[in-house]
Amino acid sequence: MKLLAGKKAVILGIANERSIAYSIAKLFKDEGAELGLTYVNEALGKRVIPLSEELGAKFVIPMDVTVDGDYENLKKVVEKEFGHVDILIHSLAFANGEDLKKPFIETSREGFAQAMDISAYSLMKLCNTLKDSFSEEASVLAMTYHGSVKIVKNYNLMGVAKAALECITRYLSIDLGERKVRINCISAGPIRTLAASGIPGFRDILKDVEERSPLKRNVTQDDVANTAVYLASRLSSGVTGQVIYVDSGHSQVAL
Ligand code: NAP
Repeated sequence: MKLLAGKKAVILGIANERSIAYSIAKLFKDEGAELGLTYVNEALGKRVIPLSEELGAKFVIPMDVTVDGDYENLKKVVEKEFGHVDILIHSLAFANGEDLKKPFIETSREGFAQAMDISAYSLMKLCNTLKDSFSEEASVLAMTYHGSVKIVKNYNLMGVAKAALECITRYLSIDLGERKVRINCISAGPIRTLAASGIPGFRDILKDVEERSPLKRNVTQDDVANTAVYLASRLSSGVTGQVIYVDSGHSQVAL
């Protein structure tokens, strides 16, 4: 029996084949899930629509998490195409490159608000939008990074946004728990993707994981997708409000 047989999964955050969300979508499909996908704008749609066809997605729609009307549209499409949601994947983040390049102390007010809105608040708004559509025992997942709890050189503003995302996950676990819905974060090790290319010095972060992590290798999108299947399936039925690390154990190494 496939682990996600018949489950209806809404997945946000595919930009291309390297996206963590793409690997999650592929493995979810293999495990029997039906997929509904979103892409942020028309330019990315040109890449994501063909991928959605290859994945046999039930729907693929534009969704920019800064636009209120897009949440309403998502709700309508979900009700029409799926009826309910068993799995929600939040795999998106944004911080303006100018702010990431500056010393952290000089982060702009606008840049701060935008990073928090896209990378953290969107998880709350998505859950609120879909709350009446979640099935009993639905599972919500968001992607985070260890720069939320420890200083990682150059991660700066994104670290603050990820700290908020993880905290939001804990508080949402109460509201969603009343409906028997679970919510967790995966804290992934560094992976070469479009979003990661915006972090100055990312190559050094990858090198450090290879040299110092217990597994002596970087994780892949597929490593993250394996844990996503666990967290989306009945195998994790008692797990909520948690941050689960998929990082070759790197976060446990002090020196
Ligand atoms: P990715 O392929 O670039 O995916 C990030 C997605 O977020 C892109 O599709 C991006 O679109 C989208 N996005 C940005 N602003 C948005 C908005 N306003 N509305 C909707 N979507 C928006 O990168 P990824 O590495 O797979 O990132 C997925 C998640 O994993 C992110 O939360 C990231 O922080 C997290 N993560 C990544 C790593 C890593 O090393 N790669 C490690 C730990 C956690 P645009 O391309 O147009 O901006």
